[in-house]
Amino acid sequence: MRYLVLSDIHANLEALEAVLAAAEGIAHDRLLVLGDLVGYGADPNRVVERIRGLAPHALIRGNHDKVGSGIETPDGFNAVARSAIRWTYDTLTDENRAWLAALPAGPLIVDDLIEICHGTPYDEDAYVFDDGDALRALQTARRPVCLFGHTHVQVGYRLAGHALTLATFDAARPLDVPVAEGRFLINPGSVGQPRDGDPRAAFGVVDTSAMIVAIHRIDYPMAGAQARILEEGLPEVLAERLALGR
Ligand code: ZN
Repeated sequence: MRYLVLSDIHANLEALEAVLAAAEGIAHDRLLVLGDLVGYGADPNRVVERIRGLAPHALIRGNHDKVGSGIETPDGFNAVARSAIRWTYDTLTDENRAWLAALPAGPLIVDDLIEICHGTPYDEDAYVFDDGDALRALQTARRPVCLFGHTHVQVGYRLAGHALTLATFDAARPLDVPVAEGRFLINPGSVGQPRDGDPRAAFGVVDTSAMIVAIHRIDYPMAGAQARILEEGLPEVLAERLALGR
C-alpha cells in the first residue's frame, strides 16, 4: 500500500494543486490528510471542496479546522492568526463549515503500521518541538509509524530501545522504517505554509510494502497564492511569510 500524506494545507489552493499534480507522477493508492485544511490562506472553500472530492482514506481535523468551523474559540491564536480565522469562518459556506466541524479528532489508526495525528497522539493540539515532545509522542503512539503535522516542519524521529535519533531523509533517499527495530514519528511538512526555511510545498509518501517513507518538496505558483491573500484583505504578513518559508 502506498499512501500520499498531506498536512497543513491552510487554504493555499495553488500549493495543493501543485502537490496533487506532482503526486500523479508518484504511484499511490490512498490519501491521508493530517488536518489544518483552512486558516491563513485565501481559498478555504475551494481547498475543502478539493479534498472532499478526493475522498481521503483517513482525514483528521487540525486546530484551525476547529476554530474555522466555529467549534472552538481562537483563544490560543495570535492576532494575525485570529484575524485570518475569523475571515475564514465568515467565508466558509454553511456546508463546508459543517463538514469541517464534523471531522474526527486524532489520533486515528490507519492500519497495522500507521497512525495519524495533527499535533501528537496524546493531545491533538500539542506541538512536537524537541526530543522530549518526540519521546512522549512515540511512547503514546499505538502504531510503529506515527505521522503528525501542526509544526509545519518536515522531520523524522526514530526510537530504538531507549535511543532517540533524528532520521535524515529526503525525496532521493527515503527513510527505511524497519518496525521490528524501532518506532518512527514523521512530519511530512506543510503543503500550504512551510515553516522550516524552505518555502516549497511539502508532502510525504509512505510505502508499507517496501517499508519506506519519502518526503518531497516542490515549487508552486506562490505569487498566485500571495496575490489571493492580498485580494481578500487578509494580513499582508501571511503573504510575505510564504516566500520566507517561516
Ligand atoms: Zn497548521
